[in-house]
Amino acid sequence: MAKHLVKCLVCGQTFDANIEPYKMKGRRYIHFNCKLDEDKDKLIDYIKQLFNYTTLPAKVNKQLQKFIKENGYTYSGIYKTLIYWYEIKKSDIEKANGGIGIVEYIYEEAKKYWQSIDTAKEKNQNAKEMEITKVEVHISAPKRQPMKQYRKQFTFLEDENEQ
Ligand SMILES: [Zn+2]
Repeated sequence: MAKHLVKCLVCGQTFDANIEPYKMKGRRYIHFNCKLDEDKDKLIDYIKQLFNYTTLPAKVNKQLQKFIKENGYTYSGIYKTLIYWYEIKKSDIEKANGGIGIVEYIYEEAKKYWQSIDTAKEKNQNAKEMEITKVEVHISAPKRQPMKQYRKQFTFLEDENEQ
């Protein structure tokens, strides 16, 4: 069989897709057993889109490495920080100099922002659940019939006692 050499999107190794099992993301090949880090993938896609990059420059890769290894940031945390800075705060991309150095200065601020959003969502959710409970109480209110039965039994018992 002819060789079909492809490069794994995750580990970067070249392999023969006619021999080794693989899966695909879009048009890219991935070893079947190589796990694609969705968070990392999403972040890299976003950075590329933000700066119109086809591949990440070494500078940005270095920044990412530093954030993950030294600052203890997560890929999804960095992603959310960039979303916060450029989509929510509408900051000027021109000032970024093609890099993501800003993340270091606003990571905690962004975290607080997203946490407050989560808290607000939770409160809404709780309020909705409260409403549902109210409705349920309302619906079950007309169910008074068992009371009559109880009364009947009660009077029956009374009658019995009287005898
Ligand atoms: Zn691989």
